[in-house]
Amino acid sequence: MKSDLFFQIINALETHEIKAYYQPQYDSNSGRLVSAEALVRWEREDGTLVMPDDFVPLLEESDAICTLDWFMAEEVCKTLREMGENAIPIAVNFSRWHIRENDFCRKLNGLLQTYGINPKLFEVEITESALSEEDFCVVERWVYGIADLGVRIAIDDFGAGFTSLQFVKDLPVDFLKIDKAFLADNCQNERGRGTLETVFFFASKLHLHTIAEGVETIEQLKFLQNMDCDRVQGYLFSKPLRKEDFIVIALFDNEPAVDEKDIYLETFSSNRALLDTIKKEYQIVIFGNLFKNSYYLMHQAPEMDFGAPTAGVIDDMTENAMAQSPKGYDKKYFDTLSREALINAYNEGKRRVEVEVKQKVEDGMILTLYTVVHLSKHPYRDDILMVGMSRVISKE
Ligand code: C2E
Ligand code: CA
Ligand code: CA
Repeated sequence: MKSDLFFQIINALETHEIKAYYQPQYDSNSGRLVSAEALVRWEREDGTLVMPDDFVPLLEESDAICTLDWFMAEEVCKTLREMGENAIPIAVNFSRWHIRENDFCRKLNGLLQTYGINPKLFEVEITESALSEEDFCVVERWVYGIADLGVRIAIDDFGAGFTSLQFVKDLPVDFLKIDKAFLADNCQNERGRGTLETVFFFASKLHLHTIAEGVETIEQLKFLQNMDCDRVQGYLFSKPLRKEDFIVIALFDNEPAVDEKDIYLETFSSNRALLDTIKKEYQIVIFGNLFKNSYYLMHQAPEMDFGAPTAGVIDDMTENAMAQSPKGYDKKYFDTLSREALINAYNEGKRRVEVEVKQKVEDGMILTLYTVVHLSKHPYRDDILMVGMSRVISKE
């Protein structure tokens, strides 16, 4: 027998107590509003607000959740139509039940047509666990059908399972939405950071865009910026908003809708151009936190592969580099570029260290590298940050 709550929810859908709220998503570099996620709220007559965790799981026990999800999808279409030229992509959560909904694509297409919505403005969010627990052939058909409509797909809570890494690469998905559990410990925990770095590395290799949700602190944001995360969403920027409030924000912080142009190329243009220029000048660019003894290889030209991991511990990188240095140059490396040497330099007031070092590469060649390291203090903490750039000046 179905509970009272179940019938109350179905009734609430009819009496318009169920509402779509919108949580803004921002471009992590430019800080611009670029998209949003629709999240359901139940505004009861007595003024209380019921959160989805208190009723979505009950609906998810059966295909009753589909009624709610389609209601949300239609609300989103209405909102997009109201926003007109100022519309930005909005993601809708679809439960696992939809994967076996035979006419899902026909229904979605019909909805977009009815409201005259550009499919690029509608995004489907589905959890990693929903995909990985279904039969791959069924999932594949479903995902391809959606992609064929021009609608983009995000895998929600990505990384929570990790079972689906293999098949993500075979599906036409556009976004990995990193599970917010990964941002725990404020990204200060070395193991958590390592896992996140792997996820971002994996995403970039597969040319997938990334979204981080549950961003609550500046430290998390900075970390995500270093990881080249595309979109960020969380209380640091905004809670989920009522439709009216969301539309006002979107009107004041937006440019005309996506259409032909790719929003990601557009919003990234100046920062990307700057990065591309630096990458042309320097074959290696490393970002590091000397205090936390961690680094992230932001750029490494293929011919410069010294076998160092993309992200790791600075002391390990120093040890590795010293092992690859010809005799005499290992000491020079340690005296100038080790963590200890750079912290000393910073404490002596230096903000820039410049040095020529030598490194052996795989084929026995020895490269002379001009390396410049810029040192700065973290804007909110006592950490000392470094950006190191190296260029080959001769080969022997
Ligand atoms: P989700 O899809 O992972 O949604 C993200 C949740 O994180 C939302 O909770 C959001 O309000 C919350 N959140 C956003 N920023 C932050 C932050 O900075 N810190 C923290 N701690 N949390 C943040 P919400 O709205 O309570 O939704 C909970 C879950 O309910 C959603 O998780 C989703 O699984 C489900 N849900 C919500 N709306 C729908 C819907 O329309 N259809 C379906 N099928 N599920 C929905
Ligand atoms: Ca979601
Ligand atoms: Ca999520």
